[in-house]
Parts: sequence; C-alpha cells; structure tokens
Amino acid sequence: MEKRKSSVVIAGGGSTYTPEIVATLVNNLDRLPLRKVVLYDNDEERQNKLAKACEIIVKEKDPAIEFLATVDPKEAYTDIDFCLAHIRVGQLPMRELDEKIALRRGVVGQETCGPGGMAYGMRSIDGVLENIDYMEKYSPNAWMLNYSNPAAIVAEATRRFRPNSKVINICDMPIGIEQAIADIAGLNDRKDMDIRYYGLNHFGWWTKIEDKDGTDLLPKVVEWVKKNGYITKDEIEDPQSEASWSDTYMKAKDVVALDPTTLPNTYLKYYLYSDYVVEHDNPEYTRANEVMDTREKDVFSACKQIAERGTTKGSYLEITNHATFIVDLTVALAFNTKERMLLIVENNGAIENFSADAMVEIPCIVGKDGYEPLAMGKIPTFQKGLMEQQVACEKLVVDAWEENSYLKMWQALTMNKCVPSAKVAKDLLDDYIEANKEYWPELK
Ligand code: NAD
Repeated sequence: MEKRKSSVVIAGGGSTYTPEIVATLVNNLDRLPLRKVVLYDNDEERQNKLAKACEIIVKEKDPAIEFLATVDPKEAYTDIDFCLAHIRVGQLPMRELDEKIALRRGVVGQETCGPGGMAYGMRSIDGVLENIDYMEKYSPNAWMLNYSNPAAIVAEATRRFRPNSKVINICDMPIGIEQAIADIAGLNDRKDMDIRYYGLNHFGWWTKIEDKDGTDLLPKVVEWVKKNGYITKDEIEDPQSEASWSDTYMKAKDVVALDPTTLPNTYLKYYLYSDYVVEHDNPEYTRANEVMDTREKDVFSACKQIAERGTTKGSYLEITNHATFIVDLTVALAFNTKERMLLIVENNGAIENFSADAMVEIPCIVGKDGYEPLAMGKIPTFQKGLMEQQVACEKLVVDAWEENSYLKMWQALTMNKCVPSAKVAKDLLDDYIEANKEYWPELK
C-alpha cells in the first residue's frame, strides 16, 4: 500500500536551520512522503533570503511536491499535517543583548541557561502560543513539533496555557551528545544504544548506556569523559568543531566528576561551573556574535548561490543531527513507529519523587496518538535538589509573564543558580526590562 503523503509547515522559515531541515525532509521521502512544504515567518525579508534555495532543494528531489513561502498565517497553516516550529523572537540581535547584559554584570550570559535564557523565555511565549493558535484555527488535526528555545520555559507555557494542544516540545542537544557517546563507546550510531536519561531541558543525566546485546557501556564512557569530556578520538586527532563547542564538550569532564555513576548534559556546566564560564567568556564578543559571523553568513550565502545558479549541485549545506531527529519524530507520529525518543513532557509521576506538574525531559514511546512517557523511578538527592531549584525558576518566569509581575521575575532571577544574589538579580531585571520593552509584557 502506498504511504500517505504529508504536508509540512516550517514556522520560523527564515531560520538558519530551515534549509537543512528542508533538505533532510526531502532526503527522507521514502520514510516520510510529502505532498507540500511551506515556509512561514513574520519577517518576509529574512525568509526570502532562504526561500528560493529551499524551493530548489525540494523541486530537485520531487517537482510534484508543492512549495510555498509566505508571511500570511492563513495561507501557511491551511491543509497542514505537521508544523515544525523553530522561531526566535527578537532574532539574533536580542540574543546578543541577553548574553551581554548578563556578562557585563559578571553572570553567565547564554542563549538558554541563566538570566539570558529567562529573558529569552519572556519573549518567546507569545510567539509560540500565536503559532499554536494559527495551527489549531486552520489545521485543527495537525501536530506541532516545537523546538523553539528556551525549550524548558516554552514547554511550561504550552503545558499551562494550551494544555489540550497537539504540541510536542523537543531538543536536539541530547542527540548530539549521544552521537559522541556512541563514538566513545566504539559504536557506529547512537541508535545502536539503549539509553535512559532524565532531567529538565538542558539539565539532565544519562543513567544507562547499553549496546543492543545489553552490555553496560556507561563505565567505559565515564572513564573517557573524566579525561576528555565528550571530545571523541576523531575530534582530538582532527578538530572540526567551533571553539565554543569544543570548550563545552571538554568541560563535561569536570561536570561528570560530581556524579561518575551518570553522564551529564553539557549545559550543566553553566550552573555548576558558572565562575569558570564567566572567566572564559568575552562580554564584547559572545556566541550570538559568533553565530552571526559564521553560521548565519554561511547559510545565507549558500542559499544565495543556490538561488542564483538554480541548482544545489556544487553547494555545501550542512545536515546535522538537529534535522534528522525532527524527521524521525515526524515519521513516528505519521506512521505509528513507536520509536523511543527523548521529549519534554509533564512529569505526572514518571520521576516518582519529583513534582507532577514539572516539564521533564525523559524517554517516551512515540506513535500516531502522541507519546507515552516511561517510568524513571526515584532520582538521587543531588539531581533532585538541582532540578527543583531550576524548575522553580522556570515556573516563576512563566508566572511573571502570566501575571505581569515584576516580583515573580525578580524571584525567578534570584532563584537561578547562575545568579549570585537578589541584588544582582534586581540589577539584571532592570537591564532586561529596558532592553525588552518591545517584547515583554509590562511588569508591575
Ligand atoms: P534564527 O534567528 O536564524 O531564525 C528564527 C526565525 O524565527 C527568524 O526568521 C524570525 O523572523 C522568526 N520568527 C520570530 N518570531 C516569529 C513568529 N512569531 N512567527 C514566525 N516566525 C517568527 O534562529 P535560529 O538560530 O535558526 O534558531 C531558531 C530557533 O530554534 C531558536 O529558538 C533556537 O534556539 C532553536 N533551536 C533549537 C534547537 C533544539 O533542538 N531545541 C536547536 C537549535 C536551535
């Protein structure tokens, strides 16, 4: 029987990740046949820099697939099966401010962790809810796969404000680390492993790494990570990663030291070694600057070249794990594969000794009706304590947004492990309010 063809809208069509997602989609037509690909953004000029190239990528694979790039929500969301959402409210210049405002006060300045991530969260909630509402209005049966950051805060907002919506919140970071873990363990692919993982988004631990025969690989990988972080043998011999990523992967050696019975998410370095992070960052040139000077330029110029030549032949577009994970998830929903995947879902007892209404990142079985979370049992005091502080911070950000509350946002910033005192939290809050006038609700 011929497989049913799907129709997909990419929200945040002007994202630097859009061309690789489109390319990954059309490279997987055997698994996920498509009838329509739509790009949707609220910034027409930015989306137009990528749209023509994306159309060429699609049409070269299959001219029968309909392609559309639009800034009209009705046109974008009508007759859609899946929305892949990756918006960045305020774009990269606001990310730059998030990072620099914190660093200038001697605090971690990062896209999703610490005060920068909280400021970004306050900006993102509206944009994500708006896109969910468009989807439900024009294609009520569609699923949204949402990887707009900061995923933890956005996921809490979708849980609270759109509890019945068909939205799945995801993150590709564990997938990237799992590929490194597989390399370190001597396996070809992360799918050759069975894993267990629990935590919050950008805040979790692997508790089991086994090969398909059930051999425990975790101790071997921990021994490697203690010395080299997640830098693989190939990467040591022939470094390919950008400096900031190598540093993050390497610092995992100090994070794993705090609990060598597990493997940590690399983002824990921001919370557990915030002094180190601040010392090694440049408040005048942050990751946002690096992305604008490299990734953004490279993607836009590759797309310009494809559009001018009318072909993808000879062009270089990087396809990362980010895109393959999203296709896997879409396939699981479309064809009921029951694949086991890490998702950000309401705890509801999955972690036995943790709040039922926390959004946690855990393995789930994914099929046509959505996901079924797996039971994780009880977690140890160290992880539980850290997670409780972090989840309280994330919930207070969403409270602040909901109630327009200055006090709740001050409490949220004070609660964050990267922020040293209530005084610094207040100074940061006043700076962020000033910078985000156009985006945040007015706090009283
Ligand atoms: P980008 O700035 O290149 O693109 C984001 C696009 O979103 C822009 O074109 C912008 O105009 C658009 N946008 C903003 N608000 C919108 C709205 N309300 N409706 C429609 N479009 C809107 O960003 P990027 O670096 O490609 O990242 C995109 C998003 O994906 C970010 O949130 C980023 O943090 C996230 N991301 C997530 C993961 C993950 O796995 N969770 C991995 C990488 C990136």
